[in-house]
Amino acid sequence: MRNGSLALADYPGDVVYITCERCGRSGRYRLDGLIERFGADIALPDLLMALATCERRSDFSRPCGARFTDLAARA
Ligand SMILES: [Zn+2]
Repeated sequence: MRNGSLALADYPGDVVYITCERCGRSGRYRLDGLIERFGADIALPDLLMALATCERRSDFSRPCGARFTDLAARA
């Protein structure tokens, strides 16, 4: 069990899309490339923090709104 967090290996697709509506940024990453960099067992929330490099990440009063585009209901 993984505490309810999906791991990268569970991502439903070959390309991972990330959107941050607050910063107006978006990105996409090939799943196999991410697995090479981070490993298949990294939790998706941890991966998001690693990939979302918006300037607001360090502003806790208005945190970055980065999320997985295809996992809107969960993230
Ligand atoms: Zn952001």
